[in-house]
Amino acid sequence: MSLETVPKELKHLRACLLCSLIKTIDQFELDGCDNCDEFLHMKGSRDLVFDCTSSSFDGLVSLMSPEDSWVGKWQRINRYVKGCYAISVSGKLPPGIINDLKSRQIHYRSRDTSVKS
Ligand SMILES: [Zn+2]
Repeated sequence: MSLETVPKELKHLRACLLCSLIKTIDQFELDGCDNCDEFLHMKGSRDLVFDCTSSSFDGLVSLMSPEDSWVGKWQRINRYVKGCYAISVSGKLPPGIINDLKSRQIHYRSRDTSVKS
């Protein structure tokens, strides 16, 4: 298997707060998020990687055929690239970025399913 989005090592893993894609911090800094970099601009910015990803996440889904995966639909990731995704991600995007997403008509929902509100 040679997918660029699959984490290269099991240390320093982080999950994207917007789409829950899991990669290493170096991969996020090098390539940005494969789904959201258009909005999050993490590529090349370690600071933004820290802002937009979380090292605290639960569960792991390997998404290989997003279109016909029921897990993909259930996790609302069926339109995303193949890769590893967290079931629940703790943390929240910075307010400035949430506002930016809003202005692009993107509705941000927290990926943290461990907290019931
Ligand atoms: Zn993402």
